Order: sequence, then C-alpha cells, then structure tokens
Amino acid sequence: MSIPVSELHAASYRARQVPAPTEVVDGVWAIPVPLHGSALRYVTVFLIDTADGLVLIDAGYDHPSCWQSFQRCVGSIGRRVDAITAVLLTHNHPDHVGFADHLRTVSGAQVVMGRADDFATMRQRRGGFLQQLRAALELTGAPPEVVDAMYADAVEVAVHDESLRLDHAPAGETTFRFGDVTLLAVPTPGHTYGHTVYFDTRGLVFTGDTMMAEGPTQLAIVSRPDDDPAADLFRSLARIRALDAGIACPAHQFPYRDVAARVDELTALHRGEVEAVRDLVRDGDGAWTLAQRMTWKKPWAELGRGTQRFHLMHALALLRTVDTGPLLSPAAGRRTSSPAATWAAPPAGGA
Ligand SMILES: [Zn+2]
Ligand SMILES: [Zn+2]
Repeated sequence: MSIPVSELHAASYRARQVPAPTEVVDGVWAIPVPLHGSALRYVTVFLIDTADGLVLIDAGYDHPSCWQSFQRCVGSIGRRVDAITAVLLTHNHPDHVGFADHLRTVSGAQVVMGRADDFATMRQRRGGFLQQLRAALELTGAPPEVVDAMYADAVEVAVHDESLRLDHAPAGETTFRFGDVTLLAVPTPGHTYGHTVYFDTRGLVFTGDTMMAEGPTQLAIVSRPDDDPAADLFRSLARIRALDAGIACPAHQFPYRDVAARVDELTALHRGEVEAVRDLVRDGDGAWTLAQRMTWKKPWAELGRGTQRFHLMHALALLRTVDTGPLLSPAAGRRTSSPAATWAAPPAGGA
C-alpha cells in the first residue's frame, strides 16, 4: 500500500474525481488533466519551477479540453504556460504526448522523449502502432477472424497522430540541467520500449506509467522476436529502486512516498504472474490458448472483445518471459525450443 504525499489527492482519486492541482514539494506541482471518455479519468502532468523557466513532465491528450484545462490550472497556481521551456515526455502514448507540439508553438519549449519511443525510430524498427498491434495479434495464434475483429476495433479508436518531432531523444541515461534543478533521464522500458523516468536529484522520480501507486503495470506490445517487456520491467524497477528517491510521481492515480517498498510490491506482483503462467502453459500453447485458461475477473467468454484484446496482449508478454526464463533465473527455463522458433511460427489458425 503506497503512502500518498497528499491525502486530498489520493482521496479524490479514490472517489473517482479529478483532483485539484497540488504542490508535491516546494516548486513541484501535480496538475491532473481530465481525460474525457477514458476510464483513467485524468492524467497527471508535473510542473517544476527552475531558474531556467518551467519544466513540464508529460503533456496530456491532444484535445482542446485538455489544453484548456491545463492552461486554467497553470494560471490557478500563478504560473504561465509561455514560461515553459522544456517538456520531458515519459513515453509515447496519446495521453502523455498530447499537447507537447502545441506547447512548443506557444512557448518555444524543447520536447524530449526516449529514443526508442521516437516515432521516427519506432517506425523504422517496429512500424506504426497499428502495424505493431497486427504483428502482436498474429503472434498470439488467435484464429484469423479474431485477429481481424480485434484489429478492426483498434483501427476505429486509434487516433494517435504519429508526427511529433523531438528536440532531444536520449538513448541512455542523460542529465538535463535547468538552472538549479538537475533531472536525470533514465530509460525504463517495460510499459513501452522507450519509456523514460526522470529523476529530480532533490529526491523525486517522475515515473510515467511504469509504477503507479497501486495495481499492475501494463506491459508493452510484443511485436518483434526479441521483445520481452516483463523482463525489461524487472530491470527498470531495479534501476528505479537504486535511484533512492523519496517520492514517486506517477502519471495516473497519485504521488506517493514509499518508493522502494512499492518497487518490491510491483516486482513481486509481476513475478507472480510469470510464475502462474509458467505453471499453466503447456508446450505448443500460443497466447490465445493461454489467455483463455488464465483467471480474469470474469470468464473469458463473458469479457468484451476490447478487454479480451488487452488481456491477450498481457498473456503474450508474460508467455515471452516464460519462454526466455533463463534470462531471469538459471533454473527457470521451461521450453526446449528457442523462443524465436516458437514465435516465428505460431500454430496455423491458433488454438
Ligand atoms: Zn502509457
Ligand atoms: Zn498513461
């Protein structure tokens, strides 16, 4: 259980409301921006006062209501959006990169995001979002009509403008100095391949979607033979723990204090999932077969197709970690075939 920095912020989250802006520590503001029509309800962006202007962590959705709400909140704490000199993005999801480009136009802010999440890099290595999803669905061994239906659902709702240009795209740990404030960009893949947390050396870590206050971390979509997002996440969590931050500032839910304990809790949760899959899976199973055998909140057949797709992607990621088990612990290997061989040729038609 995470210890909230602000009881009020946590209480608003639990009451399913959008919290008001709160000062996390002197000169660092949490600004929840509403996400209309989303189960997440809001994304929290963080504004940092520095001698070199304001630094913003993440940038909500690309929607006029998000931008207006953000502007209003910034005004309510006595700051101005045109004083923002840098936008540090934790990762390339639409609820995080949203108005970054617009902000650059308004204030001239520099836009920073991890190299592997940069659209130009990602397109070369993995293709656009829909191509990645298609590849992932085909890797699950689901029947072609299921793959087609799940893909068609995503095409309908995917409104991700894949054109954001970055001013900096760090590929390794990189220090950014803004007057008196130092922020270390730390690559933390797991939720996406280029996810980056930003460590404020005064003792805060901005964790994006890698480590919320409660619950699991959504794993990245597996679309290449060498992808293993859960293993990435375990390494990333260990790195975050070693930063020894006193406060974690996630993009959803609420900021909290017990960072090391939360790292341990989250690591145990996902290791438990990997172990459960290891026990459940039979040789030759694809993620489609496995997902139907796993325990979800409702029986598989009663889940909506969107929820099934979400769980299917999670099962695919966990299965990949089971297949590459020796990377995690020497005794953990289950299969005799190589992961590439297993995944290059999912059973025709699945099941
Ligand atoms: Zn995300
Ligand atoms: Zn998010």
